[in-house]
Amino acid sequence: MQRDAPPDLAELTLADLEQWVASAGLPRYRAAQIFQWVWRRGATSFDAMSDLPRELRARLSAELAFSTPTVVRDELSVDGTRKLVLRFADRREIECVFIPDTPSQTFCVSTQVGCAMGCAFCLTGRMGLVRHLTAGEIAGQVRVLATATGLLDRAFNIVLMGMGEPLHNYDATMRALALLHEPKGFALPPKRVTLSTVGLVPMLDRLAQEPLMPNLAISLHATTEAQRASIVPPTKKYGLAAIVEACRRFPVAKRSRITFEYVLLAGVNDSLADARRLVKLLDGVKAKVNLIPLNAAPGIPFDRPTDAAVDAVARTLADRGMTVSVRRSRGRDIRAACGQLIVESGRTKSAAQTLAAAL
Ligand code: SAH
Ligand code: SF4
Repeated sequence: MQRDAPPDLAELTLADLEQWVASAGLPRYRAAQIFQWVWRRGATSFDAMSDLPRELRARLSAELAFSTPTVVRDELSVDGTRKLVLRFADRREIECVFIPDTPSQTFCVSTQVGCAMGCAFCLTGRMGLVRHLTAGEIAGQVRVLATATGLLDRAFNIVLMGMGEPLHNYDATMRALALLHEPKGFALPPKRVTLSTVGLVPMLDRLAQEPLMPNLAISLHATTEAQRASIVPPTKKYGLAAIVEACRRFPVAKRSRITFEYVLLAGVNDSLADARRLVKLLDGVKAKVNLIPLNAAPGIPFDRPTDAAVDAVARTLADRGMTVSVRRSRGRDIRAACGQLIVESGRTKSAAQTLAAAL
């Protein structure tokens, strides 16, 4: 008979760990002590938990697993952005990014290896979905990033804008947020988290019920159903109108807004008529628009608009009362910018590999 895999410390909430500690006949305070080692003190092995008795450390190693992704690449951009390639036990890899800024520091985290959504301008989409990440793997990126950047005990923001579609891996994503929220760990407030999604309507409605509610960013990218369907395939199931309706009923906190991300593709969705349609579409939604000039890449069949075209769209929106920002592209020299996250050693003979080889 095969033995069950031991519980993995990286996946356990404090309540789970307290339960395990009780069933192991250990005093209850040990749970918080171990939890803090993982989520506050950056331990990656039981051996590092130096204030636990040696016998206890040996017992924990025998009875619990403790997975931490390993850093296989660490690249620093000229603008200070840092991209880590992390590898999990099954050798699958993802990328996550540190975006330094004053006053706030941001970690951009992945939720899946690859992505099933297939947006036409996104390299991750070209990989297809390889697998979902677990909650511990999503939150583990934050442990690794916070340790690598010396921010373990400092405030930071999280954006779920790395590889993958967070609402397609809903339960693990929400559980990861719960792990990061634990007061005895990072104690990350939900308002420091932004979840970016392509807009899977039933999951948006589910998100609207969550006790730990992140800020919401919707990847809109288009102003007509046909135009969006041609660049964001899930539109065929959940159309623009349904997404915007879901946003209208989404509980947005006072003084807060939903961000609508809009990747500008030259000659495709960057006309002034698009800008005017966008304002109309978002009428009645507590919205702000984040324009993202395309980060072009070989194999992506679109061009980045000129700065003048980007400015014209931004001005048209602003003139009609829309709050608008243009996303500065960070880390392009190390391919850490939006939509440039792709792991070159993905599946054998995957589209990603073929593409990566061309880069
Ligand atoms: N799957 C989620 C979150 C990850 S993508 C989503 O799509 O929202 C994060 C952001 O990067 C999205 O707004 C996405 O549209 C954008 N993006 C993808 N490819 C890009 C590219 N080549 N250039 C600029 N932004 C891109
Ligand atoms: Fe997936 Fe987001 Fe890329 Fe679309 S833009 S393929 S949803 S990661």
